[in-house]
Amino acid sequence: MQGLMMDYQLTLPTLLERAEALYSYREIVTRRPDKSLHRYTVGEFVQRTRRLAVALVDLGVRPGQRVGTLAWNHYQHLEAYLGIPAIGAVLHTLNLRLHADDLAYIANHGGDRVILVDEVLLPLLEQIRDRLEAETIVVMSQVPEGESPPEIPSGMLDYEELLAAADPDRYTPADLDENAAAAMCYTSGTTGKPKGVVYSHRSTMLHAMAIGMSDLVGVRERTSYLPVVPMFHVNAWGTPFCCLMVGAKQVFPGPHLDAASLCDLFERERVTMTAGVPTIWMGILDHLDANPDKYDLSCMEMMLVGGAAAPPKMIADFEQRHGLHVVHAWGMTETSPLGTVSHVGPANDGASEQERLALRAKQGRMVPLVEIRARADDALVPWDGKSIGELEVRGPWVASAYYDSEQGTEAFTDDGWFRTGDVVSIDPQGYVCIVDRAKDLIKSGGEWISSIALENALMGHPAIAEAAVIPVHHAKWIERPLAVIVPVEGKSVTLDEVRSFLQPHFASWWLPDAIEITDAIPRTSTGKFKKAVLRETYKNYRLE
Ligand code: ADP
Repeated sequence: MQGLMMDYQLTLPTLLERAEALYSYREIVTRRPDKSLHRYTVGEFVQRTRRLAVALVDLGVRPGQRVGTLAWNHYQHLEAYLGIPAIGAVLHTLNLRLHADDLAYIANHGGDRVILVDEVLLPLLEQIRDRLEAETIVVMSQVPEGESPPEIPSGMLDYEELLAAADPDRYTPADLDENAAAAMCYTSGTTGKPKGVVYSHRSTMLHAMAIGMSDLVGVRERTSYLPVVPMFHVNAWGTPFCCLMVGAKQVFPGPHLDAASLCDLFERERVTMTAGVPTIWMGILDHLDANPDKYDLSCMEMMLVGGAAAPPKMIADFEQRHGLHVVHAWGMTETSPLGTVSHVGPANDGASEQERLALRAKQGRMVPLVEIRARADDALVPWDGKSIGELEVRGPWVASAYYDSEQGTEAFTDDGWFRTGDVVSIDPQGYVCIVDRAKDLIKSGGEWISSIALENALMGHPAIAEAAVIPVHHAKWIERPLAVIVPVEGKSVTLDEVRSFLQPHFASWWLPDAIEITDAIPRTSTGKFKKAVLRETYKNYRLE
């Protein structure tokens, strides 16, 4: 017997109609490049988005074609997030922190026909302009009212002029199949060429709904949401779509991601939720420690952290020193990204503070509709919190293939799961703990050492600002851990101090055999430690 429900297609244009009908009053606030604030309502946003959709059709963009964006987090980027998929075209966010060669490769490989670029990013675009296959470049600038518009380089179009000339009444939402592509994003390509992940309307809508669930992120109409995570990386973790779906206020930091600017915006716009990678939160923690009474952040309900492991000490310090609640989550470009979130459920009501912190420092439990399993060799590992294996996932917002790529086919199993490359343990309650990325694990005399566990512990040392642990060659054990350390300004640290600090928490054979002091640890375009670069730097390091 078949169910008798409507075959209602889950497509992004419906978000526009809903937002206009219910949330036209809601504000969208942006910090412009000149640091002034731009604010308008969701009602105005929807009208401008319709204008963008009409303008893109007039430029010749057709369903299925890609429109790239090279932009910071701001209201025009949000217009592109909806206006491009609204006509059945595909939003392709370009990562502005990538090397020019990668950027050109990604824009061309993705097939971008039109590119919307921030005026402040034109110097970056100029570096690749002669290599770009895009036919049209549109410049977005956020000029305060009353100031003269910028000069647009010849051969490029002005976003605001395009919108002004477009009639929003000519907008008709495309008649879309929910499985049609809505957006695409390339992985940062830590190994091999960047690979394209293509999100569908359906996957994007379902993921947005999940973010709204209260035991996951819990974005709601009363939320004032500030995504620090860039809109050019995994659709800012999908929250712009969720905010429109539920009517949350959106606050965009533009290019100003320093701790002082962010804290100021948190306070000013009474931000209740924010999200970013640990590096950002570590900077904010330092800033708040140095300015303990400067900001009133009493509205803040949750700071979501993901993209790399959140050190437990950071989670505890925010809570204890500033009353700020950090929630740890895990995901990937290939998983839209939400995969697991770490909340402490009622099963742990009797747990001590220490035990609760230990759970919160794990990456969390799988979110509804996402299934997980971990595999070592050919067998699935038990959920005993000890056995480790590579995490595999499946679900409606997990990639089933990469875009037009010979690469990466090995990431998909024959029975329809995605191999994440992350090595994990899963405890009996289902909390996932990322032990390492498969390629970052240290194999000492045939036994595994987790570089993440050592790094998290090291970053709890009062004299250590940052630490990355990598394998280096050892005559007997093949690989041994080397800790690359950035000391806190004005402090120093020795190998003996490091070892005795770690010693109570780890087996003796886990302790680093050597340390190297450095000024900064190289980072990826998304703020994670670039361990591949460190491994290269220390490839001739020999321990006996
Ligand atoms: P890239 O693969 O280019 O780094 P992604 O943003 O897709 O870009 O990164 C996903 C990876 O980031 C995961 O596979 C995992 O290794 C790491 N990661 C994400 N969230 C966490 C987390 N909470 N703890 C530890 N690692 C994480």
